[in-house]
Amino acid sequence: MKKSSGTKAELLEEISALKQKIKELEYSDSDRKQTAEMLLSASNYNRNLIEVSLDPLVTISHDGKIMDVSASTEQITGCSRLDLIGTDFSDYFTDPEKAREGYQKVFVEGKVTDYPLAVRHASGAITEVLYNASVYRNEQGEVIGVFAAARDITERKRAEDKLRGVLVELERSNKDLELFASIASHDLQEPLRMVASYTQLLAERYEGQLDEKARKYIAYAVDGAIRMQRLVNDLLTYSRVGTHGNPIETTDSHSILGEAIRNLATTIEESKAIVTNEELPMVRADASQLVQLFQNLLANAIKFRAENFPHVHVSARDEGCEWVFSVRDNGIGIDRQYADRIFVIFQRLHTRQEYPGTGIGLAVCKRIVERHGGKIWFESETGKGSTFFFTVPK
Ligand code: ADP
Repeated sequence: MKKSSGTKAELLEEISALKQKIKELEYSDSDRKQTAEMLLSASNYNRNLIEVSLDPLVTISHDGKIMDVSASTEQITGCSRLDLIGTDFSDYFTDPEKAREGYQKVFVEGKVTDYPLAVRHASGAITEVLYNASVYRNEQGEVIGVFAAARDITERKRAEDKLRGVLVELERSNKDLELFASIASHDLQEPLRMVASYTQLLAERYEGQLDEKARKYIAYAVDGAIRMQRLVNDLLTYSRVGTHGNPIETTDSHSILGEAIRNLATTIEESKAIVTNEELPMVRADASQLVQLFQNLLANAIKFRAENFPHVHVSARDEGCEWVFSVRDNGIGIDRQYADRIFVIFQRLHTRQEYPGTGIGLAVCKRIVERHGGKIWFESETGKGSTFFFTVPK
């Protein structure tokens, strides 16, 4: 600014320059005010963010002292914010040493996830939590503390414990049921054998003395007894999958398939079936149950054949943590709506006159696969054949 020299024009110029300066000053003052307001609102915003969190939040300094807490931390510890700030973070846990190791780990590694601790409330009540924490820095990038958020897992733990209890109970009742089925079917065999053989004996012994009707009735009785024997035997086979299994060992599934094919030699020959396979892997399985599994699937693939000669193809693909086996046929196929039903014991889609059987084969397959920790399912198109898949975990 020019030094005042006294002329009117110069004076006016000076006044206008001063006015301009005042305006500038006013402007920067309002700027400052605005910045201060923004800072305040940002800080309020951050505070609200912290307070709105249901998870207890806390910031910890290098020496393990609490620097700030959220309202939820006051609730979980039963201590006020003022009491908490400045005290040792580790003092509020059932295992202070583990809590100390936890926040030290954050300073060393930058963060921790799902670090389990138990918070002790002033009343003595314990809350199990999982901590997620990370370091936070100032503008220069220096670490100034740890920001930690705890997640209350009491409900989750309670639900897990309940689930575990239900599972144990389910396992126990399953075992009871298996034992019952096993004993019942075993004990039923003998009286059934008697019924069948004595009715047959009756028919032979009184051959000439019986009229047509009596012979028919005896034939029905024999047929019924034999069918019941078959069902009882099947039930025994089914229940034994769980009770009489052999240990699960490394097994060559290729030679297992060979054994299943040999067991079905007559059926294969009579039906002129062709069974082909790709290279099959070594798996962890109960060998005799795996034979039974292949045998049931192959037998079905041949039994439910269409007009053409049956062709069954067995393969396995590596899915990383498990093997997926498939048994593909060119038979009559299965309607998708029966997807679940066919794996249920004694459930069949055909009459005995159409196709013989008791409806146990796939139920046994499912039990065997599940005993090995796998799954079984099929894909099919009616009239175009079916492919049964099962998995064997590695
Ligand atoms: P079963 O063979 O004694 O009837 P399963 O439990 O082995 O009993 O099979 C149940 C039903 O699933 C069969 O009655 C049949 O309808 C259907 N099924 C099983 N395998 C096949 C297949 N490969 N092709 C067509 N239908 C099949």
